[in-house]
Amino acid sequence: MAALLNRVETFLFLAVLLTLSSPGFCQERTVAITVDDLPYAGSTQGQRVPPPTLDEARETNAKLLAALKRHRVPATGFVIQKTVEKLGGNEILERWIAAGNDLGNHTYSHKSANALDVASVKTEIEKGEIAFVPLMERAHKRQRFVRFPFNHTGDTKEKHDAIAEYLKERGYQLAACTIDNQDYVFNDAYLKAQALGDVQMAKRIKAAYLNYTDQQIDYYASLNKQVLGREPPQIMLLHDNKLNADAADEVLSIFESKGFKFVSLAQAQADPAYQTPDTFYTQFGWMWGYRWARQLNVRVDGSQEKEPPEWIPDYLSR
Ligand SMILES: [Zn+2]
Repeated sequence: MAALLNRVETFLFLAVLLTLSSPGFCQERTVAITVDDLPYAGSTQGQRVPPPTLDEARETNAKLLAALKRHRVPATGFVIQKTVEKLGGNEILERWIAAGNDLGNHTYSHKSANALDVASVKTEIEKGEIAFVPLMERAHKRQRFVRFPFNHTGDTKEKHDAIAEYLKERGYQLAACTIDNQDYVFNDAYLKAQALGDVQMAKRIKAAYLNYTDQQIDYYASLNKQVLGREPPQIMLLHDNKLNADAADEVLSIFESKGFKFVSLAQAQADPAYQTPDTFYTQFGWMWGYRWARQLNVRVDGSQEKEPPEWIPDYLSR
């Protein structure tokens, strides 16, 4: 009798497991994590802070990679070749690949396409391949993604279409992104607090960052749902910076607590939403929800999107 009950229990357990894991059971939320400005994003404050050192970059990436691994995230990192050359070598990129992540092209020198002609955009992409393409090939990965600096994808129809045609010829897919949390603004403030040795302020900034990230995930998820009538796989845009190295565990846990499963960028972009014809020309780096809204003629109210708390830029300008 006990053995029979055990078998019944095992059967029921397996049946529940199968139901939960079958795709039709419930709409599964998925998100791809993308990290820009590899091998190190540093600060956007230019001359006001010292240039990053290789040690800083190593430490930041080690923390980031450890968090990605703990949460089983198949991430994609977008490489700025000029930073690779400045920091002197491929070591950090090799670690990203060895940990099972993908690399993509973030151009050679991170210039806005708005300020370049088509020939220069092509050169930026080709020179951007020097380190990441051989590393991806060695790992037998053929997928090629490019993300343009500031998500500037061509500000006129002529430029936009010429760039799109060129990407196709060269075997690239344009990397989309659907959620942005202005991590670079918080990171600048975080670096300032750390440079001043203000531990309390650094903590306060990190807490505000996590709170804002939580809000932005909900905001963009509902925007995308409004535009498409369903929630597509999301694509989170983060940067390779110190704040994310210290906050990655919490950021990834926020996604988990909202029921998201982590997928690769290629898996996310296999969704038909990302085949929406790209016929929208802008000088701005809009997230894809806003682009889809324009392309599909859905009226959305971007003023509902909140900015980071005012005390963050205030602290930076002090
Ligand atoms: Zn960038």
